[in-house]
Amino acid sequence: MKIHAIQTASVRIKTAQVEGRGRGLRRRLAVLNDRQWTQWLPTYAWVIEHSKGVIVVDTGQGVHLLESSRSLHPYHRWEVIFRVEHEEEVGPQLRALGIGPRDTTRVVLTHLHADHDGGLAHFPNTEILVSRGELETARGWAGRLRGYLSHRWPTWFDPIPLDLAPNAYGPFSASKRLTAAGDVIAVATPGHTADHVSVVVEDQGTTYFLAGDASYDQHLMLAGRIDGISADDDVAGATLSAIRQFARSRRVVYLPTHDPESAARLAGRACVPSSHL
Ligand SMILES: [Zn+2]
Repeated sequence: MKIHAIQTASVRIKTAQVEGRGRGLRRRLAVLNDRQWTQWLPTYAWVIEHSKGVIVVDTGQGVHLLESSRSLHPYHRWEVIFRVEHEEEVGPQLRALGIGPRDTTRVVLTHLHADHDGGLAHFPNTEILVSRGELETARGWAGRLRGYLSHRWPTWFDPIPLDLAPNAYGPFSASKRLTAAGDVIAVATPGHTADHVSVVVEDQGTTYFLAGDASYDQHLMLAGRIDGISADDDVAGATLSAIRQFARSRRVVYLPTHDPESAARLAGRACVPSSHL
C-alpha cells in the first residue's frame, strides 16, 4: 500500500483556533477576538493506493472558494485566509501521480468544513462517504449559519451516509471497516465537529492515522490541547486522549490535515514518539 500527501492549498487561521484558550464559550469567542494569525499552514488531502482501488481521504481546497472571504459569515470573512492555484487542487495532483478520474473508488470526508470538501468537483463519479451526523449538521441554511459552505457543494453531491457501528476499535468507541481486508477503518473522533471521523490505515506493522482536524498538529494532540472551535471541551479532550492511548499500543504515524510536519512524518514513517506518550 502507498499513501500520498497532496498539499492542496495553504491557509492561515487565528492562533486561538489552533490552540484553544480557556474553556467553553470563552474559548470559542477567543477565536473571534484574536488578532494573531498563524504562519501559512498546509491543507492536505490523502491518497491511499490500496490493492482494491484508490481511496482519497478529504479533498482539500478549491479555487472556487477563494471568494468566500467576501462571505457574510464572520468566520469566513474575518478568521481565515487561504491561497490555492488550479493546479494545486486535488484533481490535477492526482493526475500528476498517474491516478485518473475513474481510478478513485472512494472518497471519505473526515468532516465537511470547506477546506476538506473544497475539491469535491473532481469526483463526480466516485462514491463519497460522509458521517451521517456531519451531513445533517452541514446541510441547508442551518449548516450555513454554522459556517459550512453547503451552498458551494456540487449540485450532484449526494454522499452515502457513513454510519459507524458501535464497535470499539482500540480506544475508539465507534468504527467501520472500509475495505474487505479490514485494513482501512473509519473511527469516531468527535470534538472539532460532533461527528468528525478519522481514517486509520494498517500497513505492514505501521498504522497511519489520517486525523483530519482532530488536532491541528501532533504537539497539540500529545499535550491534550483542544482547538478553539470544538463545541464540547470534554468530548474533544477525550478524543485526544484516545489517540494517545492508541499510539501507546502500536506504531502510529499521526497525520493531521494542517500539520506542517505531516508530510515529512509520512515519508519517514515517523511514529508518535513513545517518550512523549
Ligand atoms: Zn475543520
